[in-house]
Amino acid sequence: MMDNHFADIILPLAVKGTFTYAIPETAAGSIFEGSRVLIGFGNKKLYSGIVNRIHDIPPAGRQARTIERILDPYPVVSSLQLKFWSWIADYYMCSLGEVMKAALPSGLCLEGVTTIPVAEKYRPKTETFVRLASDFTASHLNEILDKLSKAPKQYDLLVDYLRLSGYAGGLPPKPVLKTLLLIESHSSAAACEALIKKNILTAVSLETGRLTDCNTTPEPPKTLSNDQNVALESLRKCFEDKDIALLFGVTSSGKTEIYIHLIEEQLKKGKQVLYLLPEISLTTQIIQRLNRHFGSTTGVYHSRFNNQEKVEIWNRVAGRGNGKNYNLVIGARSALFLPFTGLGLIIVDEEQDGSYKQHDPSPRYNARDSAAVLAALHGAKTILGSASPSIESYYNAITGKYGLVELKQRYGSIRMPDIILANTREAYRKKLMVSHFTPQLLEAMDDALGREEQIILFQNRRGFSPYIECPECGWVPSCVQCAVSLTYHKSERKMVCHYCGFSTAIPHHCENCNSTGLSSRGFGTEKIEDEIRIVFPSARVARMDQDTTKGKNSFDRLIRSLEEKQTDILIGTQMISKGLDIENLTVVGILNADNMLNFPDFRAHERSFHMMEQVSGRAGRRQKIGKVVIQTSDPDNKIIRLVVNHDYKNLFRIQAEERKAFNYPPFCRMIKISLKHKDRSLLNEFAEILGRDLRNIFGKRVLGPEYPLVSRIQLWYIKNIILKLEKEKSSAASRQLIRETVERLEGHKGASSLKIAIDVDPY
Ligand code: ADP
Ligand code: ZN
Ligand code: ZN
Repeated sequence: MMDNHFADIILPLAVKGTFTYAIPETAAGSIFEGSRVLIGFGNKKLYSGIVNRIHDIPPAGRQARTIERILDPYPVVSSLQLKFWSWIADYYMCSLGEVMKAALPSGLCLEGVTTIPVAEKYRPKTETFVRLASDFTASHLNEILDKLSKAPKQYDLLVDYLRLSGYAGGLPPKPVLKTLLLIESHSSAAACEALIKKNILTAVSLETGRLTDCNTTPEPPKTLSNDQNVALESLRKCFEDKDIALLFGVTSSGKTEIYIHLIEEQLKKGKQVLYLLPEISLTTQIIQRLNRHFGSTTGVYHSRFNNQEKVEIWNRVAGRGNGKNYNLVIGARSALFLPFTGLGLIIVDEEQDGSYKQHDPSPRYNARDSAAVLAALHGAKTILGSASPSIESYYNAITGKYGLVELKQRYGSIRMPDIILANTREAYRKKLMVSHFTPQLLEAMDDALGREEQIILFQNRRGFSPYIECPECGWVPSCVQCAVSLTYHKSERKMVCHYCGFSTAIPHHCENCNSTGLSSRGFGTEKIEDEIRIVFPSARVARMDQDTTKGKNSFDRLIRSLEEKQTDILIGTQMISKGLDIENLTVVGILNADNMLNFPDFRAHERSFHMMEQVSGRAGRRQKIGKVVIQTSDPDNKIIRLVVNHDYKNLFRIQAEERKAFNYPPFCRMIKISLKHKDRSLLNEFAEILGRDLRNIFGKRVLGPEYPLVSRIQLWYIKNIILKLEKEKSSAASRQLIRETVERLEGHKGASSLKIAIDVDPY
């Protein structure tokens, strides 16, 4: 009997652990760790799973089912990726199946199908091309053309083929997509058929990518300034003895140009590079910049690609791209899971950004922190880039865990924008406000429009107004499924819940006292857009938020319109705060700094600082000096003062003192456990039990259970327990204790309708 009879399979389900299956005799040489296999699981259902381990230990006490089929001739997931998955599952306290679900494009996952043979979900796309029927010499081709002069349509078609194939430009003729040829030469299919019949052209079916490739000749990286060169050298120096470096450079200091130099260096060594961005809205401009230098070896990956495209990118990153492999990938957090074969460098741009953290579903991973682990597995280096680093990363840098490199000047010694504080409370009192705009902001906008410069207005709330209120009794329409008020969306004529998507008609009268004078309170981007159109009727206005960017290319369109000066004023949520590099943009308005600052969370101040610093950084990036107007009812607020002076160091000092005093990260390791139940009293009961059991182990390090700010979402009541664990203590052991405690709770009678979500390092 042969060895290695069994395989442990990961299934794309939220179930714990792996499942042991027998390897069929015939498959012995063609199955590997990381192979994708088809197996029966439960009631006649078939799933594709990934082989985690091959061994010779039969499962205890039962007959192992046999693997139905091995789906590919090679392992789809590398052993390095399997190690990465298992780190994620362990650290973020989830199952390997949940990691698999997040990691593998669903085009590679078959779930719950019932019949064999299963048609593969992914099929390479083939299309008809035409090429010359044989290797004609130049004189031979001239002869053919002479003969065709009597058939002008065929003559034109052949000439167009020779042009499109590159032959006319002196290159060996390439096959040309048939549909393209017909369109370009305004020809009929009949003319093409005639040439094929005459054995001049021939039709071939070729595999094409679904992805558009970029075919420009690469430009060399820009020559760096003195400061940039010094920074580049210091980064190299850091990497001699450290694996992670923080590049702390003010907005527009030229960090991206430094990345480009480092990328080129890695690509020349034959290494791959991953360039992470927090949000896909940022990718458009960066992709263009990187494409200019690295052309077709650059791939992009984020959740908006369809399944087929994702599979194709996966294959290109794994080196199975038929000559179209990707060595540089620009991506959102999920790009971490691509099958890199040899990473040399990971860049995490805007490392402070909260969207690196996945909130739901599990795995609730932070892509910044996970990137460092992935890099270590590859023996690669990590650069964290930021104009205002997270408190955690800066702390790691000054305590020597990371290298630290600073760029204090903008490229070209452009001044940082002037920041003006506009006191809304005073302006309201003196009746100087024009709808939601202070005189200072209006003046700055007027000036900019007069000089044909562009403006962005930032408001961190979408919709028309956050809520509607009855002025008589204070009644506010709220979601039927969640404990939050509904947001008024004027153009859709709806009240919408931003937590669960529930929507309903706009009420005409108060449900409490029947009064009809309901009025809207506060303002979101939609209302600002309406008002700006009234205040500046001749300006061209656009809006960028979750509601206007549902289509795949909507970001591109909005950004292109800004670049081409087709938009004078862009209004938006945090989507517009990062990455934009628009030469003619000189004025930034922050419409309401107060609501960010007053958010009840220990990171609210840090986050507000980042946000204001980021969005300010969009102004005056070239010759023209930028102006930022911050509207606030409290101009003496200490965080706003720090923004005015671009004073990150003091922000850090104050934050670090506070977090040390109240024991928050980076001085402890936080784990949040959320319990959800549709029955409020059962929820309370279970939450109390878990709180008590955890307190028995971790004592005063357990806080709660408590209702969060929004205590009910989609009919589920929620209670949270927070653990603040000592950093020095082995966190693996703590996690194990938590796991066991939670499992014990899950074993209680009636606990099956309880949902438990564990969030390690919540953000
Ligand atoms: P950051 O990433 O720090 O915000 P960027 O790399 O976007 O800064 O640089 C800001 C602007 O300055 C960009 O338009 C960029 O092309 C330009 N720039 C930066 N460094 C150079 C350089 N060495 N030569 C020419 N232009 C540069
Ligand atoms: Zn809701
Ligand atoms: Zn009322």
